[in-house]
Amino acid sequence: MAIYLYECAVHGQFEEWHSMSDKLELCPECLKVGVETPVKRLINFGGQNLIKMNDPESIKARHNKEVADFKKEVATNEYALANLIGETKYNQQVHEKNRSLDALGSKFSKGLKR
Ligand SMILES: [Zn+2]
Repeated sequence: MAIYLYECAVHGQFEEWHSMSDKLELCPECLKVGVETPVKRLINFGGQNLIKMNDPESIKARHNKEVADFKKEVATNEYALANLIGETKYNQQVHEKNRSLDALGSKFSKGLKR
């Protein structure tokens, strides 16, 4: 079972929940008043015309992609990282990084003096 997106010339776009082997030919709303209007199945959701709502693999894949995108954003975007761990903790982290850089720096200059 999956959700499919259709378009009726009278009723516009609507979603229909049915099995993958089925295909809607006529608009159900039009049929209610006895009119047979053929519907068009639309390509949707980034090239997919269906979302497998109850397919664990599909849900897992989408979730993994979201997590990967999020990790990538946090890794490349300081603001996203600050948002994630909170400003206080972020400042702490930056402070610690600077302190260890300072420590390395003074170690290095001491080494130069000798
Ligand atoms: Zn219709």
